[in-house]
Amino acid sequence: MVNERDTQYLLLTPGPLSTTRTVRDAMMQEYSTWDADYNDIVEFIRVRLVRLAVRDDVNLGAHTSVLMPGSGTFSVESVIGSVIPADGKLLVLNNGAYGARITTIARMLGIDTVELGQAETEPTDLGQVETMLTADKAITHVAMVHCETTTGMLNPVESVGEMVRRHGREFILDAMSSFGGIPLSMESTGAHYLISSANKCIQGVPGFGFVVADHGALESTRGRARSHSLDLFDQWNEMETKGGKWRFTSPTHVVNAFACALNELEAEGGVQARHARYLANQKTMVEGMRSLGFQTLLGDEVQSPIITSFYYPEPDRFDFQTFYDALKARRFVIYPGKVSNAQCFRIGSIGDVHPEDMNQLVAQVGEVLEEMNIHSLAAG
Ligand SMILES: *Cc1c(COP(=O)(O)O)cnc(C)c1O
Repeated sequence: MVNERDTQYLLLTPGPLSTTRTVRDAMMQEYSTWDADYNDIVEFIRVRLVRLAVRDDVNLGAHTSVLMPGSGTFSVESVIGSVIPADGKLLVLNNGAYGARITTIARMLGIDTVELGQAETEPTDLGQVETMLTADKAITHVAMVHCETTTGMLNPVESVGEMVRRHGREFILDAMSSFGGIPLSMESTGAHYLISSANKCIQGVPGFGFVVADHGALESTRGRARSHSLDLFDQWNEMETKGGKWRFTSPTHVVNAFACALNELEAEGGVQARHARYLANQKTMVEGMRSLGFQTLLGDEVQSPIITSFYYPEPDRFDFQTFYDALKARRFVIYPGKVSNAQCFRIGSIGDVHPEDMNQLVAQVGEVLEEMNIHSLAAG
């Protein structure tokens, strides 16, 4: 909560997020990459991630996990570049910047790629996905984003996953900004590869991403990688056969902080409890912002509890940088917009953030608007 913070900003962003003092303190412990205690922590994390992602215990053995250094995008690139065979073909369902990024990665790697491109304010069109899968038998893999952080849109991954499975293709899910904060599982989504990272809803600090995978699918990808350092199979094989060893230098401090974050997620009551808190954060924040006259980009029916886009008030007069700086001086850090054709900014509701923080934010936003002499709010 803001009052208990010293020099810390409250990061209302899509990551890195505000984390607990205890998670940050865990980074004070130094480990050698070769140390058995350290490798045990890695194994603890790998097992815990599979448990978080798999709904039914009988399916635990059919799944595995692998950690990959870098930001979340490195893990996305690792999956795209390592699991699609040379003669494979990828269908990307794109309704935002993160979907578009998957296409960019795949094309740069020379992978045969088709895209279902949609407006950023529209959820995935299931009918079109069905049509494309039926028409194009060459498609071997389908990739999509769960919570499109560009807008805050929640895409219908369960329906797409069911469709992809029914058509006998493999499903790659970027659940970067939802895993740990929204209930979902390998079973419910049908994902063969579920990708997320340390600094999103599990509330660790940045430095690595991870993939929970269908064991059999991943095992069959040996030799497909288009990059050595991002070779998903090789990284997994090293961890799997050498008790949690990474191939190269690993972000040891970050890994220890992540283990702490996983324990704190469990102590909070797991994903259900965290989801409930994020929902309460988002509801408190949006109700407050609406009472000040702000309008959201998305309708509530597709809005995630992760991040929310707001139209600029008085778009001709509103200066985002002034607004941002004034809120930052009050310790609240918000996020610029990323939507192509609408003037928006974003406010995240994830991290060590609580509804009381959101009430304080809204009060400060009200003051800042007064200061900026913005009163009559109009949608963009
Ligand atoms: C955060 C995020 C990523 C990864 O972004 P990085 O900046 O590379 O960590 C990928 N996809 C989505 C949907 C995200 O929210």
